[in-house]
Amino acid sequence: MTIFTKIINKEIPATILYEDDDVLAFLDIAQCTKGHTLVIPKTFSKDFLDTDVEVLKKVVSVAHMLANKIKDNLHPSGINILSNAGEQAGQGVFHYHLHIIPRYDENDGISITYKENPNQDLEAIAQEIKKGSE
Ligand code: AMP
Repeated sequence: MTIFTKIINKEIPATILYEDDDVLAFLDIAQCTKGHTLVIPKTFSKDFLDTDVEVLKKVVSVAHMLANKIKDNLHPSGINILSNAGEQAGQGVFHYHLHIIPRYDENDGISITYKENPNQDLEAIAQEIKKGSE
């Protein structure tokens, strides 16, 4: 059980933005920017990969609605919608969740950067990924 199960069960408080039978959305306690929100399924799965596609659809639908509310009412200049899967990817709570992170200015301290690796054999990489699916 993670801390999110306790939030779902109302054993610990959270600032809830939306709730239905399947999905819960609440403000991330970190508020890395104003309006930083988490959207989670009520059924347990540990990360994106572990989550049933029908459940993902419900979570994304709520995230879409709330991201638009955040855009209309908090007026960020951009929004990141992301999910960390696995410790190496930055996941800290192992109950699938989508972050909605409004972005207001370039000095907000959030950095999602990646370096380019040119001259890769893209066809070989694609074949490796698709292995077993033919
Ligand atoms: P991640 O690193 O992608 O697993 O994100 C987990 C997020 O959960 C972090 O941004 C935390 O700030 C947030 N979090 C942890 N505990 C709580 C809590 N009790 N209420 C709201 N957000 C929380």
